Amino acid sequence: MAGLTDASGSARSDDGGPRPLPAVRDDLVALTGYHSPQVDVSVRLNTNESPFPPPEGWLREFQAELADVDFNRYPDRQAGRLRSALAEAHQVAPSQVFCANGSNEVLQCLLLAYGGPGRSAALFEPTYTMHGQIARTTGTAVAAGRRTDDFRLDLGEVSRVLGEAKPVLTFLCSPNNPTGMAEPPATVDAVLALAPGLVVVDEAYGQFARSTALDLVRSGAASTDRVVVVRTFSKTWSMAGVRLGYLVASPEVVAACELVALPYHLDAVKQLAGRLALRFGDQMERRISVLTEERGRIASALAGLPVETWPSEANFLLFRPVARDAGAVWSGLVARSVLVRDCSTWPGLTGCLRVTVGLPGENDRFLEALSEVLR
Ligand SMILES: *Cc1c(COP(=O)(O)O)cnc(C)c1O
Repeated sequence: MAGLTDASGSARSDDGGPRPLPAVRDDLVALTGYHSPQVDVSVRLNTNESPFPPPEGWLREFQAELADVDFNRYPDRQAGRLRSALAEAHQVAPSQVFCANGSNEVLQCLLLAYGGPGRSAALFEPTYTMHGQIARTTGTAVAAGRRTDDFRLDLGEVSRVLGEAKPVLTFLCSPNNPTGMAEPPATVDAVLALAPGLVVVDEAYGQFARSTALDLVRSGAASTDRVVVVRTFSKTWSMAGVRLGYLVASPEVVAACELVALPYHLDAVKQLAGRLALRFGDQMERRISVLTEERGRIASALAGLPVETWPSEANFLLFRPVARDAGAVWSGLVARSVLVRDCSTWPGLTGCLRVTVGLPGENDRFLEALSEVLR
């Protein structure tokens, strides 16, 4: 009989040979996964994390409260205390907050709930590559529009893409990774007016920007119930290792995400870590000012080098070496133990590299290394 397990327990194919592994889903074959090479260097400026560890006060409170976690019990499935703390921080109701393991999992839940076969999501490149990647893994078609040459949204293009694709989800990223520019509130409003479905504003770097789409959600005005703001503890909150992200949206969107999230997906330790972090908002603000100042310093230094740069409202800067191969510049930096992100193969980013703002000493090392490489 074909394909049955024999008495020894091993699986055999029809001809008696070992049975081959099944093929992965046809629609996943072309995907390559998301890779940020983790090279062993002393200055790591490639993944936009905070260069600061979490505040010492946070660590003390976290360690003290860890003793009270009921480790033998499943965690609070509603993440009630964490959601309430986030709701208070953003002046919304707890029913408007959904948390998951990093904002990438938040995005995945949105796509599982609203995307899938026969549905589409729109995005405008260059932008965060995970939006398209996660969409594809959930079987959601991706309608990719283009930004202008200086990486701004062109509302004519937005209107064309949304009109053709009628996407259930439209992704914006503000400030946009990897270009650094934030979308002005008027642009988000205009996209909302054009979008047939949800407008998801990924604000992973929102704390650095002058405006936030949270104001739209809080306004409660008609049509703003289609706005979803996604945030993370991975960047400004110095907690990339914890894997915690959330969205703020209408209660219906939160309920939809709860339909697809696995039971007890948010562990008790993470819920505690995030809830306590919110007590240290002042320290986070101070770090943001330090990083913003450093960003200005890097931007002025880059202005004196043979590179093209763009204004950033985030904790990173995109730059394009003039008349130099980006890969060679990236390798030259690695040879000097400085790691930046090579974005040169991403759509619309030919020749571009992205540097994360680090500690002052790290930024000095980067600037010295870059001047040497470009000399
Ligand atoms: C870094 C980043 C995230 C963060 O993802 P997490 O899963 O929360 O670590 C999300 N969106 C954008 C645009 C990012 O750059």
